[in-house]
Amino acid sequence: MSKQLFKIAVLPGDGIGSEIMRACIDVLQRLLADQAAFALTYVDCPGGAQHYADKGVALPDSTLRHCESADAILFGAMGLPHIRYPDGTEVNPQLGLRKDFDLYAGVRPIRSIPGVPSTLADPRAAEIDLVLIREQSEGLFYGRLYPEKQPPANDDEAFDLGRISRKGSERLFDYAFRLARQRRAANPAKGRVTCVDKANVLNSMAFFHQIYWQRARLNPDIAADHCYVDAMALNLLKRPWDYDVLPTENQFGDILSDLAAGLVGGLGMSPSGDIGDRYGLFQPSHGSAPDIAGQGKANPTAMILSAAMMLEWLGEKHALPESTAAAARLGRAVDAAFATGRLRSVEMGGSDGTQRIAAAICDALARQSVVA
Ligand code: NAD
Repeated sequence: MSKQLFKIAVLPGDGIGSEIMRACIDVLQRLLADQAAFALTYVDCPGGAQHYADKGVALPDSTLRHCESADAILFGAMGLPHIRYPDGTEVNPQLGLRKDFDLYAGVRPIRSIPGVPSTLADPRAAEIDLVLIREQSEGLFYGRLYPEKQPPANDDEAFDLGRISRKGSERLFDYAFRLARQRRAANPAKGRVTCVDKANVLNSMAFFHQIYWQRARLNPDIAADHCYVDAMALNLLKRPWDYDVLPTENQFGDILSDLAAGLVGGLGMSPSGDIGDRYGLFQPSHGSAPDIAGQGKANPTAMILSAAMMLEWLGEKHALPESTAAAARLGRAVDAAFATGRLRSVEMGGSDGTQRIAAAICDALARQSVVA
């Protein structure tokens, strides 16, 4: 049987992006060294805020073409606070990629890894295992994605046009119910969707809420409930272990996912997948962290776990169990690396940096090979 080849467009981006991407590719090469069924070929693609400052364009056409023809996209981080467009907003080309490739579901798993300290003292913090799904094609980011639709700003006022559509909401909720069903198949304690909105105040959110319940009625096998976003911010601090799948609006998901990452070891532990019906882009939930860039301090785990999400997605899309198995193996290696409780990233108050953490994950992969 010939090996299946997947082309991966690699966009390291700005700040710590290139450091964590290098570590991630090293780990992937170690993981797939003996893989007989498939291989990944990596195509390095430039882009980001620094690229905009140097060349006047954030994502060159060649990068967009590689993303379009790739089987999946691996993305580090883009954006630097000191590099801005003339209107004062930052150069964040990932927003354009989400629009161009219709990556509507921002899937952000938040899971406690044994050995990683939580900000919560309650022992139930060890049970945190939820997935935020951030809608990414509209919501309060709509005006930024479609500036031509935005009312013009003047010296006295500025606007951000939000939009919620039936199509955008239905596909988000359908994704959430499908995911809850898959999670219940793997763990009978799971299988519950909680819509997070602000339907008590905003018209667009009342519409979102209504569509949620219409979709929930079409998925009667999955438990469904609802929570306002302000209450959810509190509940994520008080009892995050009670939640499973949380679909929400674009801006709410942006904020809540950083909060939730703080519960399980920080942004460096928090992976994500930007997923559409055709394309998938995988990136850590964090940004370019300019405060620690170039110092070797960045935790590469979120990037590495995002690569595991990519392998899982490729396995499902191409009905390739070897890719799904590789994803699970990588997840187990991350768990094993942290299980001793001695590996501590800078965010956790320790001093283990990019290379040390990536090496610990590679060692864990090697131990798996010996055991197998
Ligand atoms: P950030 O996520 O880059 O950093 C927030 C804090 O978390 C910082 O203290 C940083 O040091 C820490 N941190 C983040 N990732 C870490 C890691 N892997 N290991 C250790 N510590 C880590 O958020 P910010 O500082 O608000 O934004 C910096 C830049 O990134 C901005 O230009 C912003 O627009 C951009 N940004 C990009 C993305 C993306 O590419 N998807 C997401 C968010 C922010």
